[in-house]
Amino acid sequence: MADEPLEELGGCTPLEYAYTPNMDLIAREGRCGLLRTVPEGFEPGSDIANLSILGYDPAESYTGRGPLEAASMGVALAENDVAYRCNLVTVREGTMEDFNAGHITSAEGADLLRALDAALDGVRVYPGIGYRNLMVVPQGRGAATTPPHDIVGQPIEPHLPRDGDAALLLRCMETSREVFADHPVNRARLREGRLPATQIWPWGGGKKPSLEAFEGRFGLRGGMISAVDLLNGIARLAGMEVIRVPGATGFLDTDYGAKARYAIDALGHLDFVYIHVEAPDEAGHMGDTEEKVRAIERLDEAIGLVLEEPDLVVAVLPDHPTPVRIRTHTTDPVPFAVLGRGRDTARAFTEREAARGSFGVMQARDFLPMLISKR
Ligand SMILES: [Zn+2]
Repeated sequence: MADEPLEELGGCTPLEYAYTPNMDLIAREGRCGLLRTVPEGFEPGSDIANLSILGYDPAESYTGRGPLEAASMGVALAENDVAYRCNLVTVREGTMEDFNAGHITSAEGADLLRALDAALDGVRVYPGIGYRNLMVVPQGRGAATTPPHDIVGQPIEPHLPRDGDAALLLRCMETSREVFADHPVNRARLREGRLPATQIWPWGGGKKPSLEAFEGRFGLRGGMISAVDLLNGIARLAGMEVIRVPGATGFLDTDYGAKARYAIDALGHLDFVYIHVEAPDEAGHMGDTEEKVRAIERLDEAIGLVLEEPDLVVAVLPDHPTPVRIRTHTTDPVPFAVLGRGRDTARAFTEREAARGSFGVMQARDFLPMLISKR
């Protein structure tokens, strides 16, 4: 949700431009600040940022995105397994055209991965949601990899896997090109004018991490609502309840209101619910300002449902910025607003107001303790 001032919005950021009466109320009647969600030396991924916000130190608990998603998908990892996120992507003429193969559906992706799995030896692939799938390398060593969303429009050659499992990964990528080239799923997609999934792109590999239980750490029964495997994997490893919401897609068409209603319901037996909405990030990756503003406004409506509940402490924040100008994540601190932990002079929930907020620049490890403090 966090972004930069844009000329096309008259010098406003999407958050400033969007109509957000509910988030503004949280800021006006609560307190604001900036939160550093990506510690120095880490890539600004959703994995790092959300672990940090949930009070875990990535330096201790982070091994890669793949194993977090494996946990969410219920794929058990042996001690020496390395799990990679395995995107379905569109590469043509050596260029990364799309990091999600035209938002390929889960059913199409599963078809392609089944065909690939049959062609691979010793390596397993598992279908996930849409373009987000999983690859497991037994006795793996890891590799230096690049997230495909960081190189859209660029030649892939300088960003291919290096070190460790690289030779194996490159062989699997080659096999996927052969298996997918004339696959019925791709023939149908091309006929319909959609992008084909030309190959897999493994990245973010790591071994199974161990997270201290959320309840033991904070004394709270916690729950997670997200359509994104990564977030649900973190929740599972932390012993939080994973609350599945029908209609939550992880994309722009997600059912925001349902997420809010399920969260309120879950607070009947939980102390803390973390609602993650991916849509503004996806709009940022698409470089689509209008869609980003719309995603923020729809999110705000759902927050309105949460605010109807009495006696809640409510915080709103992005996990990391995804500015539409650069179409990828940055490490800049994110604006946050908290209702129920005092007041300051903020008038609205925006990047600029939050920068003047009374919390100043806070480190992520201090965020949950502040939120749950008894004062
Ligand atoms: Zn993103």
